[in-house]
Amino acid sequence: MSAVDVVFLGTGDAFGSGGRLHSSSLLRSADGSVLVDCGASALASLRARALAPGDVDAILLTHLHGDHYGGVPFFLMDAHYASGRTRPLVVAGPAGVEGAVARLAEALFPGVGMLPFRFPLTYLEWGERQEVPAGPAVVTPYEVRHSPALACFGLRVGMGGRVVAFSGDTEWTDALAPLSGDADLFVCECFGLDAAPPHHLDFRTLQRHRHALTCRRLVLTHMGEDMLERAPTLGVETARDGLCLTL
Ligand SMILES: [Zn+2]
Ligand SMILES: [Zn+2]
Repeated sequence: MSAVDVVFLGTGDAFGSGGRLHSSSLLRSADGSVLVDCGASALASLRARALAPGDVDAILLTHLHGDHYGGVPFFLMDAHYASGRTRPLVVAGPAGVEGAVARLAEALFPGVGMLPFRFPLTYLEWGERQEVPAGPAVVTPYEVRHSPALACFGLRVGMGGRVVAFSGDTEWTDALAPLSGDADLFVCECFGLDAAPPHHLDFRTLQRHRHALTCRRLVLTHMGEDMLERAPTLGVETARDGLCLTL
């Protein structure tokens, strides 16, 4: 029976609540590795856990907010200058992902667009509920409700004989039910306790809809200060930076 390791590289919100790092998770199976989201701190978090960025086959982005994709330019700079990468890399995300990464990379490291990368770099765009092979994973994106300005997706990732679903950032939407249906693990954002800012989930709302979720295991992440403070008393499983689960 194959297995998948899920390493939580960053479980914080955009504001660094609780001193946590920006969103990123590593999924690793015998077939390879993918990152789900790549916040600005993802590379440092990989290195802190002695995980090689060069082993990552694909970066899967839920949406183009900085705490979820801000680390891609650093990853590319490392691949070119430090890791000596030759292995192909896939970066998959919402429509426009290639341009968004290029603009961010150019702002952070002017001239980066001229670098002669020695590795094949392929960009893929999500289409609603369209399966996309990406490295060792097969990904099905489900559009969620997070920003009027951006298309944002939850990702259902099949890999190593397991299914791991990620809500990305979102308020409650009925799409979370099929997204996480029968998944071995559902990693769900839960920014607030009794309430959340617009376009995010809070614990009370999630509890009201919990019956609709048929995942085998639910782990909450992307928590703000209120939720972090109360989480140990709520009887739910929560992620933390560095947590590793084997499914
Ligand atoms: Zn976020
Ligand atoms: Zn966001």
